[in-house]
Amino acid sequence: MRKKIVAGNWKMNTLPAEGVALAKGVAAGKGEVCDCVNFIVCPPFTHLHSVVETLKGTNIAVGAQDCATEVKGAYTGEVSAQMIAALGCKYVILGHSERRQYYGETSETLNKKMARAYENGLTPIYCVGENLEEREAGRHFEVCKQQIEEVVFNLSEEQFENLVIAYEPVWAIGTGKTATAEQAEEIHAYIREVLRSKFGAKAEECSILYGGSCKPSNAAEIFSKANVDGGLIGGAALKAEDFLAIGKAF
Ligand code: PEP
Repeated sequence: MRKKIVAGNWKMNTLPAEGVALAKGVAAGKGEVCDCVNFIVCPPFTHLHSVVETLKGTNIAVGAQDCATEVKGAYTGEVSAQMIAALGCKYVILGHSERRQYYGETSETLNKKMARAYENGLTPIYCVGENLEEREAGRHFEVCKQQIEEVVFNLSEEQFENLVIAYEPVWAIGTGKTATAEQAEEIHAYIREVLRSKFGAKAEECSILYGGSCKPSNAAEIFSKANVDGGLIGGAALKAEDFLAIGKAF
């Protein structure tokens, strides 16, 4: 059985006290959501510690939104995977389209970040997805395949067992446009086929999340699809009520 996951990517939102309040709100309502749904929240680095402390004793995990390519040393402004793990985080989002687009992340960078994450026992949530131009040119399958082949195919079987993939069409992120449930299922099934070509039956165990303007009103339909195992949620993760409602959508 694949894990059902609802992960919140808070991006560069919330001040520390607001982040703690949001985490408390999610924790307060989690009891109403099926235990079968794994909740993860990914606050900014500055409040990872306080959110981890706030969520101690709950079954809500905490992740970071990125990590450094290097282990440690003279890399001003960077935050290492070891630091993130030391705080009690379990996950790290890697390859988010905003990082690929605004900070020039490439497969080469991401291979290093993935290695750092695994060295420190973090589970990567590896994001793939095409932009609007690529979608309109019918290149979405090819783009996702390449993003997987260049990074995920370098993992060992053991590492692959601890991987979450998020399919996030760039044209749907923060735009209010959502992929239809059919579009999501089509590409999720394709991604699983690509994973199967390398990892065989283990591909059936890998959770593939949908991300892109997912909200309480569309989550149930998207999550009803066979190859959609949950969501990576941006905007709607900033309101505990909406985030919880998405968790209830399974
Ligand atoms: C995201 O950035 O991961 C995301 C899915 O954002 P939104 O839900 O706001 O589209």
